[in-house]
Amino acid sequence: MIEAQYVVGFSLCIGTILFFFLMIATFFHLQRTSAYQPQQPAGTVPVHSINNFHPGIDEATLRQCPKLLYAEAKLHQGNSTISCCSICLADYNDTDVLRMLPDCSHIFHLKCVDSWLRLHATCPVCRNSPLPEVMASVEVTS
Ligand SMILES: [Zn+2]
Ligand SMILES: [Zn+2]
Repeated sequence: MIEAQYVVGFSLCIGTILFFFLMIATFFHLQRTSAYQPQQPAGTVPVHSINNFHPGIDEATLRQCPKLLYAEAKLHQGNSTISCCSICLADYNDTDVLRMLPDCSHIFHLKCVDSWLRLHATCPVCRNSPLPEVMASVEVTS
């Protein structure tokens, strides 16, 4: 009888340990899946593989896009100048540094469009690929 009780107690103990392992594993699994969900809607590339794959424009190409102050942009484009940045929606000041996309001539804050273009190789406003000439020249030289 003592032996039987011992066996039952032992299996209960093992069962409890396994149960806790299962709980911990489930908890971590749920944490990981819930942490990934906001950044990873169904059908997209997992976050970690985006780091190896650059869909946007590289730094060198980015630097070739013309930079200008808003005061200069107003002179160039006259009344048609957009008065706020389409990315952050803030109004431009005359001293703000802007980046102009060579193909479509849309302008944005330098820092706004730079972070955008590192992730997307398209103009945030018209969705055209903004830099066909720059991209082509980079391809030829490299
Ligand atoms: Zn902006
Ligand atoms: Zn554009």
